[in-house]
Amino acid sequence: MLIELKDVNKTYQGAQPLHVLKGIDLTIGKGEFVSIMGASGSGKSTLLNILGILDNYDSGEYRINGNLIWNLSETKAAEYRNKMIGFIFQSYNLTPDLTVRENIEMTAELVQEPLSTDTLIEELGLKKYETHFPKELSGGQQQRVAIARAMVKKPDILLCDELTGALDTKSSKDVLQRVQKMNDTYKTTVVIITHNLNIAGMA
Ligand code: ADP
Ligand code: MG
Repeated sequence: MLIELKDVNKTYQGAQPLHVLKGIDLTIGKGEFVSIMGASGSGKSTLLNILGILDNYDSGEYRINGNLIWNLSETKAAEYRNKMIGFIFQSYNLTPDLTVRENIEMTAELVQEPLSTDTLIEELGLKKYETHFPKELSGGQQQRVAIARAMVKKPDILLCDELTGALDTKSSKDVLQRVQKMNDTYKTTVVIITHNLNIAGMA
């Protein structure tokens, strides 16, 4: 199994400890398109951050391809993130002083056999904007760059946190269709957080 969570728990410490993830069991196979739904504050981002090895859990087991993801060194965690995981945040997180093409190429340099930047620019409808800077793009266009930037590493797993949360319906649909195409073309496993029923329906 590509992703396997067994009885995963996570509590945020503080004046009032908050037990956010309570015994999560979840298995996701290669090539699946999965959506995680839940009310605001229910722990969706917490779960996704654990899947993306951006945060730790307290107990239970998280395995990728059978390998236990627990207490990894920063080097090892970065290696997993670079080679296996693409992360798309609601807030695009593009580098403002790099062009569209440069934003994608910067990430391509992290791996030995990246996908072709040209192909992704084409597939994500960014040809006209490749020399533009992020601030010159609409939200939907920026999100498409974020998809290209995550995909160029040819990740096994693409994690999307409310990637259409800030977009209008039309742009949301376009962005989602692009993600679906990535799932289709590259057999990338997609995990998408949403509180939108229509999006969940695509998964
Ligand atoms: P969702 O993404 O479903 O809206 P989150 O995973 O972001 O939910 O948050 C779940 C709960 O944990 C919320 O009550 C939130 O306030 C709390 N929380 C999230 N991150 C932290 C943190 N770093 N420290 C303490 N509490 C947090
Ligand atoms: Mg969230």
